[in-house]
Amino acid sequence: MNTNRLARSHDLVPPDGWPGLPGTLAARAITEHRAGYAMERSSYMSVGAPALIIKARSEQDVQETVLYAARLREQSGTRVEFSIRSGGHGIAGTSTNTGGIILDLSALRHFEMLDPQLGLVRVGAGATWGQIAGQLAAEDLVISSGNFGDTGVGGLATAGGVGYFARSQGLTLDSMVRAKLVTADGTIRWVDTDHEPELFWAVRGGATHAGVVTAFEFTATDLRTAAGDASIIHQQLTYLTDSLPQFTADWGQWVRQSPDELESFLMVQALGDGQHAIQALNVWAGDGQDQAAPVLREALGLAQLHDSRTELVPYPLIVPAPNSPHAGQQRIKMRDVLVDQADEQLGDAMAQSLAHRASLVGELRALGGAVARVPAHATALGVAASRSAGSYLDPPVRHRRAGPVVRCPAGSGHRRVRRLLFGRSPFGCRARLAWADRNPAACPVREN
Ligand SMILES: Cc1cc2nc3c(=O)[nH]c(=O)nc-3n(C[C@H](O)[C@H](O)[C@H](O)COP(=O)(O)OP(=O)(O)OC[C@H]3O[C@@H](n4cnc5c(N)ncnc54)[C@H](O)[C@@H]3O)c2cc1C
Repeated sequence: MNTNRLARSHDLVPPDGWPGLPGTLAARAITEHRAGYAMERSSYMSVGAPALIIKARSEQDVQETVLYAARLREQSGTRVEFSIRSGGHGIAGTSTNTGGIILDLSALRHFEMLDPQLGLVRVGAGATWGQIAGQLAAEDLVISSGNFGDTGVGGLATAGGVGYFARSQGLTLDSMVRAKLVTADGTIRWVDTDHEPELFWAVRGGATHAGVVTAFEFTATDLRTAAGDASIIHQQLTYLTDSLPQFTADWGQWVRQSPDELESFLMVQALGDGQHAIQALNVWAGDGQDQAAPVLREALGLAQLHDSRTELVPYPLIVPAPNSPHAGQQRIKMRDVLVDQADEQLGDAMAQSLAHRASLVGELRALGGAVARVPAHATALGVAASRSAGSYLDPPVRHRRAGPVVRCPAGSGHRRVRRLLFGRSPFGCRARLAWADRNPAACPVREN
């Protein structure tokens, strides 16, 4: 196909003062006032107004876009913003911008089973984890990823990836064995522990600083379940408690004593008068009911139970993927921290934070297990947010722009929780606070 002809037929005019787009890129480009712009400008967390969106269909498109951005910067002398977008679910909203370029990888969503015996798979960066879960489950395989199916492979795999298999299999980036990268000089390279190992190290925790990843190879884990469809035991509980500190300590102890097959994820909401409702999602990595039953039975006694359900489900069912279009629809702000231990002090800090009128929900995820067994120096993540010395795990911090920083009135729950949680040691669990972005005066948020 003659791409120059295509470029003319699109009649795409680059923004004022920008160099002309090469024919192939013009065919992939969307600018303001063009069809599709409204659907493509935003991410899930942020409304954008980019000057140019490139919908890449190949790694050559990625390469051309990187070189075009470099040329633009050189010619204009200005630092035009450049956002990489895979699934568009980045919490910091950095996959869109105002006045810059978005390189959208969502069409790079191929999945290839390279070696079923080893569980070796190749996946495009623009695939979503819901799509991957569906494809792996048919082979009884899983890759530790996040809890939500619409999140992208590119952003999650390079930022960490904490989900239902974290304690049994580690973070998503721990199962990465190779990555295909387009670096700032426009070179396309496969990197792994033998080929450009420093770049491979950097990709796992800081990819944006190393280049644009177009594809990954992961080793998936065979769950060896009876039905062969990656079935897991899933327990959903709702507790009511009038002592969040006591509950948090009991939950922490229960998790620490449980085998690594167990993963537990809590969502906590304040009901007023010191009462909290807690939804627990507990997952057993597999269908081993004999082992799982006593552990999950113990969970029933952690606090007053309002509701409980335990069932065997194929893994993809609990990684929902509504494939929603992105319109900056998620108006909350989130902040993640690592804490060494789920104990009364943590529960107290969460209770205080949730008492703040801007707070919506607090989350706790159990870590440790396989996550903690990877040496801190093995990946860039281990240094950015040490697995053994403890610090702050907030994916946005490792990208172009750091995440939101809470600045609240003295004595407020948020300020206290920051004081208590920041800088404490290792991967006992991850805590997340989410608060509404509706009333900035109540709890101003600064983007740094
Ligand atoms: C509803 C929701 C649920 C979530 N649940 C979880 C969870 O359970 N566990 C968890 O760990 N996280 C979770 N997250 C966080 C989310 O997974 C991360 O923010 C992740 O970065 C999103 O990936 P994405 O590809 O969708 O991001 P995008 O928005 O597309 O990208 C975010 C940033 O990642 C970088 N990036 C993306 N793709 C590439 C690439 N190919 N090469 C280089 N850099 C790249 C860029 O800096 C980009 O700005 C959740 C987020 C949301 C909104």
